[in-house]
Formats: sequence, C-alpha cells, structure tokens
Amino acid sequence: QPDDRGLIGDVPVLRVTRRGPEAVHFVLAALEPGAEVLLSLDWERRFDHMQQHSGQHLISAIAEQMFGFKTTSWELGRQRSVVELDTPLVTAEQVEALEKSVNEKIRDRVPVTVRELAADDPEVETVRSRGLPDDHVGPVRVVDIKDIDSNLCCGTHVSNLSDLQVIKLLGVEKGKKNKTNLVFLVGNRVLKSLEQSHSTEKALTSLLKNGPGEHIEAVKRLQSSVKLLQK
Ligand SMILES: [Zn+2]
Repeated sequence: QPDDRGLIGDVPVLRVTRRGPEAVHFVLAALEPGAEVLLSLDWERRFDHMQQHSGQHLISAIAEQMFGFKTTSWELGRQRSVVELDTPLVTAEQVEALEKSVNEKIRDRVPVTVRELAADDPEVETVRSRGLPDDHVGPVRVVDIKDIDSNLCCGTHVSNLSDLQVIKLLGVEKGKKNKTNLVFLVGNRVLKSLEQSHSTEKALTSLLKNGPGEHIEAVKRLQSSVKLLQK
C-alpha cells in the first residue's frame, strides 16, 4: 500500500517507509529535535488508499468464498488497482456475480475492526496472510471484516464497508502464468472515472452530432468513408 503524505509542522513529508517497528519519515527540511509540532495528513490521498485497500480485502475474500480463487498478489495503482487471482480463467458471468456480491456487502454496512495478537498465538495460523516480513517484532495486527474475512495486515482500512461506497470491477486481463488479473475501482475513483467517461461522451455527442447510443455507428460510417476516399 502506498505511503502517506502531509506536513510535520510546516515541513512536507516526501516519503514514509517502515524499518522494523518504526515508520521512518523523509522530510524536505531538518526538524529541531524535541520541538512540539502539529502533524497534518493529506486526507484525500489517505482515504483513497483506505478505500482501494479495504476494497481489495473484500474482493479477495468473496472471490475465494464464491469461486475458490485465491489472491496471490495485488497492486494499488494511480488510476486503477489489480487483484491477481490464482486461476487461468475468470468468466464474464463470474465477474458480474462477484461485483454484485461485494456491493451487497457494502450495502449491508459490515463493520471492519482491528485486533492485535501475540505473534505465537495459535489463532495467527487461522487468518489469511502472505507471511510476516523478516524484521518483524512484537504483536501482529489482524483486520476483520465481520463474518467475512480475517487478514494479517498493517495497512490502513475503513472502519465500515459502507465507507467504500461502491466497487466497480472493470474486467479481467491475462496475468502471469495461469493467473488472471482482476481490475477494479473503489469509492471516489468510481465517481471520478464516471465523470471522465461522461465528459468524453458529451464531447463525442457534440462532434458526431448524435446521441451516445449512435456514437459507435457514426464512427464506423466515418471510418468507411475515409477508407473509400483513400482508395
Ligand atoms: Zn489490509
């Protein structure tokens, strides 16, 4: 999951990385040791990451529950995010059913909670995990989506699925050997994407001088007349 941005006093934070149990902040200028400072967080960025990341937990859990597809990795991109599923094929019907189910869970307003367990607690073995980093010390953090999923994770999450607003599955792409990448958007990214599509549609309506339902036909006609002219 990408790191936070913000200010320590009035000094911008450029990057945050984990070193053992510590969050190391890289800042634009030196800070005075011992000084009292106000921390401010780039909330828009943080909330976007919380939505995409918690959405991924939900998609991974339901994909496994419904179809037995295990998540082998995932990536939070600038525009879109991807869950890598351990299956060579996901059908359009499965994508549709999955999208329907995750959005039902959002409407069910399911709570998302965090608990800490000792690293040697036998319960740790029962939760979804991709393993602990080698330099891990202290307790482990489990993120629960009530009655749906338990996941070993140190990322930032929403506290209720209703904060995800909506999940749009954009479809699947061929992944690495025998894997399939599922492309998705969560929450505000769905609204942004719709806004972009809508303004493109409006521009095409004005250029092609017909309604959105006829855009494809209009472009096909234009393409064939260009071909005729080129002969
Ligand atoms: Zn997480």
